[in-house]
Amino acid sequence: MPITNKWIGVGLTDAGRVRPTNQDSLLIDNHLGLWIVADGMGGHAGGDVASQMAVKTIRTYIAKNKPRKPGAPEEEWKALLNAAVVEANTAIRYRGKTKPALKGMGTTVVCAFMPDPHGEHAWIIHVGDSRAYLIRNQHITALTRDHTLLEERIQVGLLPRSTPSSHELGHVLTRAIGVESIVEPEIAQHRLQPTDEILLCSDGLNKMMNDEQIFEVLQNFSTHTPQQKCQALVDRANERGGKDNTTVVMIQA
Ligand code: CA
Repeated sequence: MPITNKWIGVGLTDAGRVRPTNQDSLLIDNHLGLWIVADGMGGHAGGDVASQMAVKTIRTYIAKNKPRKPGAPEEEWKALLNAAVVEANTAIRYRGKTKPALKGMGTTVVCAFMPDPHGEHAWIIHVGDSRAYLIRNQHITALTRDHTLLEERIQVGLLPRSTPSSHELGHVLTRAIGVESIVEPEIAQHRLQPTDEILLCSDGLNKMMNDEQIFEVLQNFSTHTPQQKCQALVDRANERGGKDNTTVVMIQA
């Protein structure tokens, strides 16, 4: 079935109930077909600066350097997306080195990118534990695997898949932007159906509820607007403790 409607994203970010500041950032660029959630870390202002820089740098890089035609070879898109993340890594590290107060700052990132806003392909790029989910035919599926020690243990069978991401090892990132001189984004392309929805989120959402509980909220709000669904997810994360900043982006055609 061809996709005739344009992919549109909406989003929301909230500091939650415990943290004094919000170090998450988000980007909604329906014109470029790019949506990003970034979750910053580091003392003082570092976390917010890192997540904002990641979002801005990746957007600018893609807008400036993207191939003119959506039909460019896959490898070309992949190289572009990789270079955008490397650019963000370099920029954040440089700022962290020149401003002592920002030393050691870093950020996660999860991006959805659709070069053709009416197309059926989505690129998902991620570093760290911010997630992308696909909602299709009454199911929720994770499109990303966290870059955490917890996920590493799960993959080698040392812990069950059902271990909640709030487990202590779920807080230990194995990859991030701005922390090391080399950054390794995971980049994958997915084929979409017209009724699909993509959810991007920071861990403030999935550490307060599991995938089924996230899906349940979306089901309960299935007749509502995407903006209302985002609000419902943030509200539920806050009802369950709101221990971290929560950011959600919903994309649908
Ligand atoms: Ca977080």
